[in-house]
Amino acid sequence: MRVTLIGAPYDAASSFLRGAAEAPAKIRRVLFSPAGNLWTELGADLGAPGTLEDAGDLAVPEGSAAARAAITTGVRAVLDRGGRPLVLGGDHAVTLPVIEGVHAVHGPVAVLHVDAHPDLYDEFEGDRYSHACPFARIMEAGLARRLVQVGIRAATGHQREQARRFRVETIDMAAWVAGARPTLDVPLYVSVDLDGLDPAFAPGVSHREPGGLSVRDLIALLHALPAPVVAADVVEYNPRRDVDGVTAVVAAKVVKELAGVMAR
Ligand code: MN
Ligand code: MN
Repeated sequence: MRVTLIGAPYDAASSFLRGAAEAPAKIRRVLFSPAGNLWTELGADLGAPGTLEDAGDLAVPEGSAAARAAITTGVRAVLDRGGRPLVLGGDHAVTLPVIEGVHAVHGPVAVLHVDAHPDLYDEFEGDRYSHACPFARIMEAGLARRLVQVGIRAATGHQREQARRFRVETIDMAAWVAGARPTLDVPLYVSVDLDGLDPAFAPGVSHREPGGLSVRDLIALLHALPAPVVAADVVEYNPRRDVDGVTAVVAAKVVKELAGVMAR
């Protein structure tokens, strides 16, 4: 199955720091660098013809509604050609329009969401489309059959209430360390916020939250996913916060292993 990279250079919904819009180009540079190769750990060759294509970056306008429409349209175009979109954010607000496009083709999907934060705020600083809110909008609209969150360690009282309201299945970091792992079904959508990783591994994010997943934890989780993973995103890499580009390398590694799993 062909996996298609789509850049969504949008960070206007970020509540704290801009910069995530610069991520897609930096991730691609590492992913396709001669310093590495395109073989995944599980033995998929993403360089083989028809395996991984790159649709480039979407032209995303600054306005919130127009930006969402452009992202949904771009994702639909890839799905309609039979590809599996792997979206490079951008901030986490891009996930709502991506899943709207996926829903139009696949109906309500199961969602695995890796993040330090639940992103379930009803609104944040007056913005219902903030990067702190996408999963509230997704669940309200019935775009997901299930929402399974992994890596959570910064939930507020309001977001815990929202999680109960939407019947979110939460595996927070304490549960993860105790050995809890998600049981997932298909068709599956995967959303990876890189701040789900510990900032020791991925400092290049806007909201560093200590005590998170290791890179190996995340790769093992991805390798164990059921097929098909019909679409995915990797979001919240902020190059302006990175240290010697280490988070770009982590982001590219996550994209590579995720693409290999999606190609099955
Ligand atoms: Mn997030
Ligand atoms: Mn986050």
